[in-house]
Amino acid sequence: MTITAIRGFNDIMPAETAIWLHIEEEARRIFRSYGFSEIRIPLLERTELFKRSIGETTDIVEKEMYTFTDRHGDSLTLRPEGTAPVVRAYIEHKLYKRPISKLYYMGPMFRYERPQRGRYRQFYQIGAEVLSEGSPKLDAEVLEMLMALLKSIGLKGATLDINSLGCRACRPQYKEKVKKFLETRRKVLCENCLRRINVNPLRALDCKSTGCKDATVDVPSILDTICNGCKEHFEEVKRHLSAFDIHPSINPRMVRGLDYYTKTTFEITAEGLGAQNAVVAGGRYDGLVQDLGGPDTPCFGFAIGMERLVLIMKDKEFVREPLLFVAIFGGSEVEMKGTEIIKELRDLGFAVEREYADKGIKAQMKKANKIGASFVLLLGKDEHDRGVVAIKDMKTGSQKDVKLDEIVEVLNKELSTIKKGE
Ligand SMILES: [Zn+2]
Ligand SMILES: [Zn+2]
Repeated sequence: MTITAIRGFNDIMPAETAIWLHIEEEARRIFRSYGFSEIRIPLLERTELFKRSIGETTDIVEKEMYTFTDRHGDSLTLRPEGTAPVVRAYIEHKLYKRPISKLYYMGPMFRYERPQRGRYRQFYQIGAEVLSEGSPKLDAEVLEMLMALLKSIGLKGATLDINSLGCRACRPQYKEKVKKFLETRRKVLCENCLRRINVNPLRALDCKSTGCKDATVDVPSILDTICNGCKEHFEEVKRHLSAFDIHPSINPRMVRGLDYYTKTTFEITAEGLGAQNAVVAGGRYDGLVQDLGGPDTPCFGFAIGMERLVLIMKDKEFVREPLLFVAIFGGSEVEMKGTEIIKELRDLGFAVEREYADKGIKAQMKKANKIGASFVLLLGKDEHDRGVVAIKDMKTGSQKDVKLDEIVEVLNKELSTIKKGE
């Protein structure tokens, strides 16, 4: 019997990692230009951290966490999301002494969910958190940054949905309203929502069961219940977004699966993913730092679901980093020269592959073709004696001799047209 990967745990193979790198590199570049720095948080945290932050009665904490007792008897959990660990680090390292912290992270999260297309038990997120800024201008700017990122990686047709979840002063009133509303529809609610009706009635609004969906079609809108402060914040977010020429849809049913959100929440969806089409989600969580023992700190954050984004990007024409192949044949002197050329090209940043065994030109061309080389540099005894290499364009089949000191110039010219997608 061969050993295979665990269900829901996925290998990301080289053919796909080029897209992953492309997204990650664009994210790093754009985040930096908006003042973000990277934070690297551990994969394991105390279980208590997620219970206290995400909420005891959420799906994540109730049924999806990978929790175990370690050899010392402590209850530990593989992080199901990144916000709580970032907030934990923010408090632990007293980052609240700084005027503002803009932090981003990339890496795997773990949830025991039913695996399906674009959803795994180990899944990857690119997330960011802004801690210690409460202005609606910040909400709008981060949303604008996300739209800019999606555009720069080549994703078209992304739409933004926003909502306000109110604050600790006004949300309890909405909860009460929804509770009363759900009481009249007990018969159609699912078991989970019935059980949570008193502690967490809002969960019924994003419950996936059809009964709950039908039951809550005409639920009262949260936007009619939130306080004046929250209303004003929401209006300001929309106003600043329109200054960026971003016009979101208002979705009062979007309550998000985590308890800690306050005021602005959002989702960005893209075509081509069916029902699971949110690629980014997040919002404001002004009470979380205090809940976890830190000072009163307004915060805003988001997480990008990498697998879903990659799924959409996979169908797109994607320009990969071109690969060169240097085919050397004709004895040890030629071999020396060829190795020298390869080293020089690599030092200049070209991606270069070669044949290590002593093989003829035919076998080498076959290999170059199989690994997808864009150009082959042929160096035989004849070329060596004339001080040239033959450069073959694998796409068009055309071939020309190039003097050794002109290789780089010629390659740069040819490759720049490839990168432009010509
Ligand atoms: Zn409020
Ligand atoms: Zn339900």
